[in-house]
Amino acid sequence: MTDMTAPPTLLSLVIPCYNEEATLPIFYKDACAVLESLQGRGVVGEFVFVDDGSKDGTVAVCERLGERDARVRYLSFSRNFGKEAALLAGLEKARGQVVATLDADGQDPPQMIPRMLDAVLSGEFDCAGTRRVTRKGEPRIRSFFARMFYRVMGMLADVDLVDGARDFRLMSRAYVDAILRLPERGRFSKGILPWIGFRVKWFEYENVRRSAGETKWSFWKLFRYSLDGIMAFSAKPLAIASVIGMVLFLVAIALVAIVAVRRIIYGDPVAGWASTVCIILFCSGVQLFTTGILGAYLSKAYTEVKRRPPYIVRKEK
Ligand code: UDP
Ligand code: MG
Repeated sequence: MTDMTAPPTLLSLVIPCYNEEATLPIFYKDACAVLESLQGRGVVGEFVFVDDGSKDGTVAVCERLGERDARVRYLSFSRNFGKEAALLAGLEKARGQVVATLDADGQDPPQMIPRMLDAVLSGEFDCAGTRRVTRKGEPRIRSFFARMFYRVMGMLADVDLVDGARDFRLMSRAYVDAILRLPERGRFSKGILPWIGFRVKWFEYENVRRSAGETKWSFWKLFRYSLDGIMAFSAKPLAIASVIGMVLFLVAIALVAIVAVRRIIYGDPVAGWASTVCIILFCSGVQLFTTGILGAYLSKAYTEVKRRPPYIVRKEK
């Protein structure tokens, strides 16, 4: 007689956590309920909590959960390395044939997982991604800059970013392995994912408020992150710098011609210390600006070349 029971599908839940001691137990309870509902479909779960150098009791919560529940695995960073590093570490540690990444704060509702799982397990899609259709409950200024960022990225970047795409996604093993093949240290998922391709099904949902605690992203952290993203996926700022230089050079030649003609034909020396100073200031400003752009790319290249690890683990289970 043939054995009709297929081995269960392992679903890894990768959860980056930075100071999430308040939200983690709530998340764990919700996720357990979802995993239970999936049992009938031959899906078993594992948790991969990544503590991103939290300053509160997040590690203690992970340890406690790990002692009680064999499905819980975790790793704890030696310091805060950022969410991208935490996601990378989690994906590397996950063993599932399907892997989901989601936040600890309930803003990525685990209740959506069964539907996302359907899309990936059907074999039709390699990734189930999520998009926020509203930014309700977010400071207005932040939404404004987020929209600006997507617009600028749309003009500059060589990959198409999806507006409002979250880090909440469920992926096939092949998709995860493709992500892990990209060796760069400075990681920008919003660009990496469209770059690797595959078939992605999008799920839309409304913004949900955090279950507890507060957002870890300050305005400046987000601003720096978006600059990193632009530089990681576009060399156009460099081209823009040379275009500015070229245009100014042409303007300068025209001005020289005008001044020379006025002097030779009309004998009219151009007075104007102030205008000269303005021009010098303007040009050196542009020069410093474009050198700055160059420098930014150089420093990115420098950090990549040093080949430092993207994160360091202090403790794991
Ligand atoms: N996070 C992290 N490292 C950081 C910042 C955030 O691992 O340096 C985690 C955080 O614990 C949460 C997720 O990334 O699970 C999203 O962070 P948050 O909810 O603060 O961001 P928001 O939802 O406000 O964009
Ligand atoms: Mg959040």
